[in-house]
Amino acid sequence: MNALKHVDSHMDDLISDLQKLIRQPSVSAKNEGIEECAKLVKALLKSSGLKSQILRLKKGVAPIVFAEIKSKKNPHKTLMFYNHYDVQPAEPFDLWDDPPFSGIRKGNKIFGRGSTDDKGELITRIKAVEACLAATGDVPCNIKFVIEGEEETGSAHIEQYLKKYKKKFSNDGVIWEFGYVDAKNRPIIGLGMKGLLFVELTVKESIRDAHSSLAVLIKNPAWRLIDAVQTLRNSDGHILIKDWYKEVVPFSKKDLELIEREPFDQNVFKKEFGIRSFVGNKKNLDAKKSLVGDATCNIAGFISGYTGNGAKTVLPGEALVKIDFRLIPKMDPKKQVIRLKKHLKLYGFDDVKIKIFHGEAAARTDSSHPFVSQVERAANKIFGKSILNVSNAGTGPMHPFVDILKSPCISIGSTYMFSRIHSPNEFARIDLLKKTTKCICLIMDNFGKNQ
Ligand SMILES: [Zn+2]
Repeated sequence: MNALKHVDSHMDDLISDLQKLIRQPSVSAKNEGIEECAKLVKALLKSSGLKSQILRLKKGVAPIVFAEIKSKKNPHKTLMFYNHYDVQPAEPFDLWDDPPFSGIRKGNKIFGRGSTDDKGELITRIKAVEACLAATGDVPCNIKFVIEGEEETGSAHIEQYLKKYKKKFSNDGVIWEFGYVDAKNRPIIGLGMKGLLFVELTVKESIRDAHSSLAVLIKNPAWRLIDAVQTLRNSDGHILIKDWYKEVVPFSKKDLELIEREPFDQNVFKKEFGIRSFVGNKKNLDAKKSLVGDATCNIAGFISGYTGNGAKTVLPGEALVKIDFRLIPKMDPKKQVIRLKKHLKLYGFDDVKIKIFHGEAAARTDSSHPFVSQVERAANKIFGKSILNVSNAGTGPMHPFVDILKSPCISIGSTYMFSRIHSPNEFARIDLLKKTTKCICLIMDNFGKNQ
């Protein structure tokens, strides 16, 4: 394929364009450089041969950069790339070896905030399209880019954008914004993400903290909250809220086979975190199944009373717990909130106040969808091997793409698993940028030919 040769001989262009992107800070959390970066991305897409435009929802919302190109030989199938041009804040600055937006190259690595997440991933998609155009004067299928600017702050408006531009964004498959590559250089092809429900529970017992001798008379809100939280799950991690798992369906036979095949070294994992055993004393296959498909009820933080040095005999006036629930397919965040509220009421915890921060459903693409094997064959050809992952244990805004656009979504990319994304000294590996760009070329080809 001539496009692959074009990728090989144009890596310097890819690197310098990635450096340009890194050197334009675009920190969504601080609204720093967002507009400027959107314009830069638009210009890059244009110079790579795509028609691009900036889409807006309303004032104060980061724009989406949209681009498309129609295929002359195959105008009936459309592949979409979903990416983001915003980055995490670079703090703490003093832990960076070079300035965080330097884009400096050292050997096989390019350093800087966004070098991998997600500007590195984005450039592989853009350059793959450019390579096809340069080599054949055409693209193997229609291509669309949706590049948002709020991913790192939780993609608050992606759903509204997808609804507003539903027709414009229509497609037959989405390549997700990232994909991990493991320590043995195997790309992980991800078919799903879990959902998330983030809540805060509070109990206020008295109008102020009191001397702890009064604990004989004044109820302690921390005890009260602990009692409430205790009813939510058992020590094996199973959630005890009525009907929590009602709509959930078990793994398909094919999914189970994929999970069995996925490499997982429980001892390496335990060593990494310095832990002796897993929740519920799970082992090997059960641990893998949990990562892929178990819901969680996790205490993310608990605040009450005095937590400073030494002793202070105080009876706190209030207590607060932050809880994140990972949701699995078929769990509707809105329904789960109602179930949680009912549960607390049923157990007599009317005094526990609930605040909902974030609700997002899980998404999963069927492992037997033809798109999966198209991606898998491309990855095996370029990387020599690949791993199919039924679902990532984390959360991303995949559900609206599946729900609103009805698109199968697959994540594949150049994110080396130890590339320090979200941390100081984030870097991208040039060998992986090259391989991923080639892999995207082959994916477009397989997808267009429907093979
Ligand atoms: Zn990120």
